Amino acid sequence: MEKLGLVRDIDLALHLPLRYEDETRLTSLRDVREGETAQIEGVVAHCEVSLRPRRQLVVRLKEGREELMLRFLHFYPSHQKTFAPGARIRVRGEVRGGFFGLEMVHPSFRAVDEDTPLAEALTPVYPASASLPQAYLRKAVASGLQRAPLQELVPPELLPPGLPTLKEALNFLHHPTPEVSLATLEDHSHPAWQRLKYEELLAQQLSQLQAQRERAALRAPELPLRRDGLQEKLLAALPFALTGAQRRVVEEIAHDLARPQPMHRLLQGDVGSGKTVVAALAAAIAIDAGWQCALMAPTEILAEQHFAKLVQWLEPLGVGVAWLTGSRKGKARAEMLARVADGSAQLVVGTHAVIQDQVEFAKLGLAVIDEQHRFGVAQRLALRHKLESQELEPHLLMMSATPIPRTLAMSYFADLDVSTIDELPPGRTPIVTKVFADAKREAVIERIRDEVARGAQAYWVCPLIEESEKIDLQNATETHAQLSEALAGFEVGLLHGRMAPAEKAAVMARFSSGEMSVLVATTVIEVGVDVPNASLMVIEHAERFGLSQLHQLRGRVGRGAVASVCVLLYTTPLSETGRSRLKAMAETTDGFEIARRDLEIRGPGEFMGARQSGAPLLRFADLNEDEALLKQARRIAPLMLDRHPDAARRHVERWLGGKAEFLKA
Ligand code: ADP
Ligand code: MG
Repeated sequence: MEKLGLVRDIDLALHLPLRYEDETRLTSLRDVREGETAQIEGVVAHCEVSLRPRRQLVVRLKEGREELMLRFLHFYPSHQKTFAPGARIRVRGEVRGGFFGLEMVHPSFRAVDEDTPLAEALTPVYPASASLPQAYLRKAVASGLQRAPLQELVPPELLPPGLPTLKEALNFLHHPTPEVSLATLEDHSHPAWQRLKYEELLAQQLSQLQAQRERAALRAPELPLRRDGLQEKLLAALPFALTGAQRRVVEEIAHDLARPQPMHRLLQGDVGSGKTVVAALAAAIAIDAGWQCALMAPTEILAEQHFAKLVQWLEPLGVGVAWLTGSRKGKARAEMLARVADGSAQLVVGTHAVIQDQVEFAKLGLAVIDEQHRFGVAQRLALRHKLESQELEPHLLMMSATPIPRTLAMSYFADLDVSTIDELPPGRTPIVTKVFADAKREAVIERIRDEVARGAQAYWVCPLIEESEKIDLQNATETHAQLSEALAGFEVGLLHGRMAPAEKAAVMARFSSGEMSVLVATTVIEVGVDVPNASLMVIEHAERFGLSQLHQLRGRVGRGAVASVCVLLYTTPLSETGRSRLKAMAETTDGFEIARRDLEIRGPGEFMGARQSGAPLLRFADLNEDEALLKQARRIAPLMLDRHPDAARRHVERWLGGKAEFLKA
């Protein structure tokens, strides 16, 4: 029970049936049809253990003049007792046409009297495990349902009309009356289902709203944009002009930074849309106002690239930029920590090492998290706590290339302001994506040969096999050997997760400078890597990658003016989801469309890092289907919080319990 999360009475009450069995009616053998699942009552005429074709218990049941054979391949002596000749038995199962007439194999059964009543409600079948019998679970749920505190917390005037109370809804869903349309239970459109979904969505909205209000009560440093200040100098020094979209989001961010409440903003923009420079411009405002800025990336490679770029942009303007990762140890680390603590490091770039306990900032005014969805929930919580430890809360800017679909933005991320870069820098040519079976591998390698001979550079990505880092490495190493041989005369490098950071950096440097033609890599290159001359990408076993991962990977090419090609190699057989992902990749390069399809294929959990939190965050509502309910919950949440704050708090506790913390991360 604990494994299924069934601990409190309320957990049991919310453990809804997978389906139902109809034990409210008896079917006569005369009317029953082959293939039909039916409940039949009769008297045992004969019972024997037959040895042919294999050992089995065979029971002949008579109902009037009709007969039904029951077969049990697994049975106990107790079965024989129950099926004593003359006993009245009720059986339920699928009726088949057998050699000796109608039969049921392994029906459910019980001994009855002539006046044993039929069930009044449909019988629930619950999600269970092998070691947990249905009958036991049914009893436990029924008594949990009785005891659970299900009093109405949502005031009636804040409920959509026509919905039952929570208690009525749950009683009904566990024991529906036989005349209910099963279709409305299956597609969850029944009012009882609607009530549950509404409850859940409302709890989520309330918790988001609470978080938002808590944040609004916090104080942050005011970081006004100075005329002729650092930001303008940086803009003037950049080798390119900002796109219109970049200018707009920089303004939105500057507006937030000037206010005494902490910014809580997500900057979303497709891969290659130029988010880094926006972060640098935001940092410039904070630094100009006399505060420090921290920029965190999920991998060392990415952090290092950011560092290189930011040093190049900001050091000439007199900004002290520091570099902090987990792999930096000893004296260098101590020195760096000292510079962060005394404030001489104005911009600190690194991995999540930046939020570790020993790191003390003199005056942190702005924290930027790149590729925020790649950080685990635990890391995001750690960051929150770190940020809370100052007297003044820093501003927070999160960046992501995985746009949040609209319904998610209204639900899980209701507490977030969103800025969107919806335009790519000029001069990019669209990437052509081709999908081939692995049999075409040789031809693909030939094509790469031609291209690198003309000066192009290529990535070759090998998949991460989660269960085994070893196999993973072996694949990449073999591919590296194979490509080195096939592309003799050109430099082929290898990059994987097991390499020391310095080795990785050395390989990246050779690829960035163009000396290396082909880079074989495991997914370490996934996010953020920026080598504009690379125009070819091959992704091996593309079917094993998630859609947003594929999109991220593909975004490593198409960054320069040359036309880029992305080849997705797959091995057969291809699963249904694998097929739909590859199809989506071939059909569009639009990150928003990709995210929408991803949500369709995978559900919302992945966007949340919910894997780490262990439980899916919405159990009953479905964001794709329940947009209307979601909108109502959004409208009602502030009313409930204002007028009935105590009920609101209890409602959130009932539905989210310990998960409320995660939702704020
Ligand atoms: P992402 O949004 O994926 O993080 P980056 O910030 O890495 O994208 O930017 C991708 C590339 O585009 C970088 O080489 C960057 O310097 C360049 N870039 C950014 N903004 C512009 C612009 N307005 N015009 C031309 N190039 C730009
Ligand atoms: Mg980036």
